Amino acid sequence: MNEPALDVRNLGKVYSTAAGDVHALRGVDLQVPGGEMLVLLGPSGSGKSTLLNILGGLDRATSGAACVAGLELTAATNAELTRYRRASVGFIFQFFNLVPSLTARENVALITEIARDPMRPEEALARVGLSDRMDHFPAQLSGGQQQRVAVARAIAKRPQLLLCDEPTGSLDSESGVQVLEAIAEVTRDVGATTMIVSHNVDIAGMADRVIRFRDGRITEIERNGKKLAPREMSW
Ligand code: ADP
Repeated sequence: MNEPALDVRNLGKVYSTAAGDVHALRGVDLQVPGGEMLVLLGPSGSGKSTLLNILGGLDRATSGAACVAGLELTAATNAELTRYRRASVGFIFQFFNLVPSLTARENVALITEIARDPMRPEEALARVGLSDRMDHFPAQLSGGQQQRVAVARAIAKRPQLLLCDEPTGSLDSESGVQVLEAIAEVTRDVGATTMIVSHNVDIAGMADRVIRFRDGRITEIERNGKKLAPREMSW
């Protein structure tokens, strides 16, 4: 077997707060081959975002190991983590996080200017079906279109890892389908390993594997016999 693109071993995360320690991750193990699509399900507070933040190099684990794209994140220096985030990771969040004073094209260009081998912003926006909206500002776009700009921004750097935290959480179902289609298509094209965190059990159908969380642990990993296109899933 090829070396996994993502190798997580006994990962733990404790947040120290005034009210005491919060055990957000309690020994997570996960091996993922390159190009796989995972959907992470579980109740609020079960540790899904914490895992995503650690794998994206935004936060650090307190125990265990996590190796992504050949970098051992738990042993990396801050400079290595910054380089890793810029070169290897795409993020998509629930609330788009676009810069309101920049056009769609400029929002994508912000990222492509600091990446190693990026697509042109125009190509990334074409891939998510927004060729005719490149010079629009976020306020001139619907929520679904804004999220597709965020997808273009995340994939323009051709990331090895694409992390999506509730990407359809603030969208109506038709816009949600369009955003998930864009994510599925572009991750296939750039060969990214993709993790989608969701409250919505209905999107599990598009995953290769579904990972269920509870209380900081993985409780179940299930392989989908037949992967569905986002439009084939019932919402
Ligand atoms: P999920 O994404 O599944 O909703 P999270 O990873 O956000 O879960 O949270 C896991 C646990 O860690 C929760 O109990 C949450 O309150 C706690 N937590 C998350 N971030 C912080 C933080 N920055 N400081 C303290 N506790 C946190």
